[in-house]
Order: sequence, then C-alpha cells, then structure tokens
Amino acid sequence: GAERTKNVLILMSDTGGGHRASAEAIRDAFKLEFGDEYRIFVKDVWKEYTGWPLNNMEQQYKFMVKHVGLWSVAFHGTSPRWIHSVYLAAIAAFYAKEVEAGLMEYKPDIIISVHPLMQHIPLWVLKWQGLQKKVIFVTVITDLNTCHRTWFHPGVNRLYCPSEEVAKRASLDRLEGSQIRVFGLPIRPSFCRAVLSKDDLRVELEMDPTLPAVLLMGGGEGMGPVKKTAKALGEALFDKELGKPIGQMIVICGRNEALASTLRSLEWNIPVQIKGFQKQMEKWMGACDCIITKAGPGTIAEALIRGLPIILNDYIPGQEKGNVPFVVDNGAGVFTRRPKETARIVAEWFTTKSDELKRKSENALKLAQPNAVFDIVKDIHELACQRGPLANIPYILTSSFSSLI
Ligand code: UDP
Repeated sequence: GAERTKNVLILMSDTGGGHRASAEAIRDAFKLEFGDEYRIFVKDVWKEYTGWPLNNMEQQYKFMVKHVGLWSVAFHGTSPRWIHSVYLAAIAAFYAKEVEAGLMEYKPDIIISVHPLMQHIPLWVLKWQGLQKKVIFVTVITDLNTCHRTWFHPGVNRLYCPSEEVAKRASLDRLEGSQIRVFGLPIRPSFCRAVLSKDDLRVELEMDPTLPAVLLMGGGEGMGPVKKTAKALGEALFDKELGKPIGQMIVICGRNEALASTLRSLEWNIPVQIKGFQKQMEKWMGACDCIITKAGPGTIAEALIRGLPIILNDYIPGQEKGNVPFVVDNGAGVFTRRPKETARIVAEWFTTKSDELKRKSENALKLAQPNAVFDIVKDIHELACQRGPLANIPYILTSSFSSLI
C-alpha cells in the first residue's frame, strides 16, 4: 500500500542557540531530502508539558552560565552515572505522565533527541508502552569534543557523534559500534549550499567592499567578553599614523539587546555594524575574513564551513572546554581570553601576518563537515526503511505509568 507520512519528533531545549539550531537543521534537511515523506515536529517538550524544574531548564541554564562556577560544579558533580540516574528517576516519576501525553499527541514513528536530558524519560515511556521495537529513537550529540556522559544512553538505535573523539568516549561508555555514527555536527542546510561571493555579500550587507572584516559574536545569547573586545578592536584596527582604518568590524549580539544598545552608543573610528539576533549567519560569515567567538559548537562548525579562522575568547566550563583544543590543535584558530591580545592578533592577520590567516582558513576548511546534516537524515531514513512500512503506532495512555518507577 501507499506509504503513509511518518512523524518525526525532535526533542530540544532552548538552552543557548545550539540545540535549537541543530534541531532546525535536521528538520530542514528532512524537508529538502524527503519532502512530504516525513512530518517533522520540533518541540521543547519539557517546556510545554512539564512543570518545574524541567520547563525551567532555559532559565536555569542562563542563571548557571552567569554563575559559571556553579555550572562547572553541576557539570562535573552530576557526572557519575548513579547520581544522574537517581536524579532523573525522581524527575521521571513526577513528569512521566506529561511526557507520555506529549508523545501521544505527536505519535512519533521516529524520535530524535538533540539534548542530553531528553533521552531517559522518553525512552522509559516507550519501554513501558512496549514501543521500544516500533519507534526509532536516535540521539544527535551537539558538543564537539568533551561531552557530558548523560549523552551516552545505551538504549538508542543510533548515536550521531560530531567527531571521532566523541565516538571513542561513547564506545567506552557501553555503546556498541553498530549504534555509533560519526558524520559531524548538523548545521543548517543554508550553510552547506553555496552562498554568494564575498564581494556580492558585502554589497548586500552594506559593508566596506575592500577592508578586511572581523566578525565578533558570543553565541545565541551574546555572551563572553564581547564589549571589551569590540573596544580593543576599535583601537587596534585604526592606523593612527595613516589616520585610517585597516579593517572593519561586525558585532552580532544575538539576543543580548543590552549589549547591542551599549555598543551602538559608542563612537568608532573604523566601519562598524552592530546587530541583534541574525537569521542569515551564513551571509555574515561569508562576508567576513575571521571570527571571534566563545567556544560554542554551532558557531565553530559554521565558521569552519565558511573557512573562517577562529579566535576563541571564552568557553562555558565543562561542555565547551573541549571545543578549544579541537580548533587550536587542528590549526584552525587560537585561544585567548584577553581582549587586547585578540585585537592585536586580528590586526596582525589583516596586515603583516596575512599568510597565517590564509593557512588557518585552509585548515578550517579541512575540518569542515558541511554534509553532516544530510548524512544524518539519510541514515535515519535508512533505519526507517529497514523497519519496513511503519505501522500506525499504538500509543496508549497507561495511566499507572508513574507508579511503575
Ligand atoms: N546564531 C544566530 N543568530 C545570532 C546569533 C547566533 O543564528 O544572531 C546562531 C549561530 O549561528 C549558532 C547558534 O546560534 O548556530 C549558537 O550556537 P553555539 O553552539 O555557538 O552557542 P550557544 O548559543 O548554543 O551557547
């Protein structure tokens, strides 16, 4: 008979821009690759269906990022498996019913988790419902190198790892080789497809046509030492002797509107554009010559695809720390927390050390994995085909579920 449209539920949480960006990348790649064969729902299930603490994850994340020490303690402190299992079991007992209701609404044939804490509970619900063998459950890891052990759930059909390093950790942590695939971090398809030439982009984005350009950002939330770095660049990219700029600067503040308005109130000697949250990051990256950012995995993977040398100026302890050696040891960039040094490096790249800029750009391109998102959705499609035509999945509300734990 005719294949019915399959439902795909992508579970994410809006902690930072990264998880949402990955979720939307996967959704868009499904559409481009398979059209109407799949119906995709991107859901922050916890936010919609559960109460505190899970619907509060975003707030907690922002709070913890601000109190970096606390985040660090939480990250390492919850690492032993028994601790997070007990913690999650307690949460699951409270919220299983709501999660179940969420799954009933979307009736997914395939569940894709892009968040480490969105595996345990849905997998338990599937198990209690006897649906483990019917519903495909895969996890896409969105950290490049060091990632928290909660990502490694042995109950998944596939675990998509962004790098060999992560795959190695996963196999040390009870996952079978047959479960693991390494394709790279899923990045929005708009990044994989060709973008306009740099010259055209500069016209479109109203940038100076010839001056070399640095892109300064701090993830979706505009975090890290953006303000100090912008000021230092304003000085370093102005040649006092000649009385003219040697470069231009684009600052993208993401959702940090306070930062954007502070920066807009300053006076600059070089061409500067200060922007809030941008929807076409591939264009800004395509128009610039290097990037300064905290070590967010999404931004790094995107910059590599555009061949941008990267200055990492901050990282969230724990989850982002390993992204630093990934960039630096592979010759695609440098790490420094000092705004003045950052500015000096950019000024050198734009003048005396342009060969170094070029080399780093080539190394960045070598590391890039622009097709990762398509490799992932094709692999999921193959998994679905192996199961044959997926039957209408009999989701039933098991009212006694939470008493089972
Ligand atoms: N981003 C964006 N517009 C902005 C700022 C950021 O689309 O104005 C995107 C950026 O391209 C990347 C993601 O948000 O895909 C940030 O993810 P990352 O992993 O770098 O850091 P996070 O914000 O998750 O901490």
